[in-house]
Amino acid sequence: DPVLALSGITKTYNKGLPNAVEVLRGADLTIAHGEVVALVAPSGAGKSTLLHIAGLLDTPDAGSVRICGREMVGLSDRKRTAARREDIGFIYQFHHLLPEFTALENIVLPQLAHGCNQREAVTRAADLLARVGVGGRADHRPGALSGGEQQRVAFCRALANEPALLLADEPTGNLDPGTADQVFGTLMELVRDTGMSALIATHNLELAARMDRVLHMDNGTLTEA
Ligand code: ADP
Ligand code: ADP
Repeated sequence: DPVLALSGITKTYNKGLPNAVEVLRGADLTIAHGEVVALVAPSGAGKSTLLHIAGLLDTPDAGSVRICGREMVGLSDRKRTAARREDIGFIYQFHHLLPEFTALENIVLPQLAHGCNQREAVTRAADLLARVGVGGRADHRPGALSGGEQQRVAFCRALANEPALLLADEPTGNLDPGTADQVFGTLMELVRDTGMSALIATHNLELAARMDRVLHMDNGTLTEA
């Protein structure tokens, strides 16, 4: 089974109201194991909406969302939340790290919530931080880190529980171009090393070209570049 299969996804905000916005009009998408797919579209095209539906944070009006072969549409909120915690890692444009905890703790906490024991969680967090080049910053709080370092820590947090699918929404969008390029390179290495599947929204065509496939979102549907 593919890691992610979306078919016939439709979504309209404010349905039936004068300010209705038809964002998705039958979007189809399949991501195989180990595939890294770019989602390219201008701002407002519906990338975040699609990622939220794929990530089980939002439900489509119609269509099917399968994660590792399992249909998610129609499941209870509790079951979808469980599936999201088990299978999906998120990265956003802004890091969303917890400000009162250190970099290391920010990566340990989701592992403890996942049932991992503390010693293993700390070992894995330290290993991940070293791999992304911020091992020396493990005991710093997010506010003491640079933007690029914060984002690297957020990558480690998203990957700490080894999700089957990584969803990233403009993961380097708030960094200056030079830093973005380096930080994106780190993300790609991490994803390739773990062999995970990823859907990464960006409007940077150079970054998109480094992925396995590029999908364009146009008028509410997806087309292969
Ligand atoms: P992108 O991520 O490509 O910028 P979004 O998925 O955020 O696009 O938004 C697609 C369209 O849907 C935009 O026109 C946006 O204003 C609209 N939209 C997004 N979320 C909502 C919402 N909760 N209510 C109403 N309209 C929304
Ligand atoms: P903001 O900082 O923009 O007010 P939030 O902190 O509420 O937004 O959420 C940040 C992002 O996380 C948003 O894109 C939101 O849709 C997404 N999100 C909301 N709930 C969850 C959740 N349970 N797990 C992961 N991401 C979530």
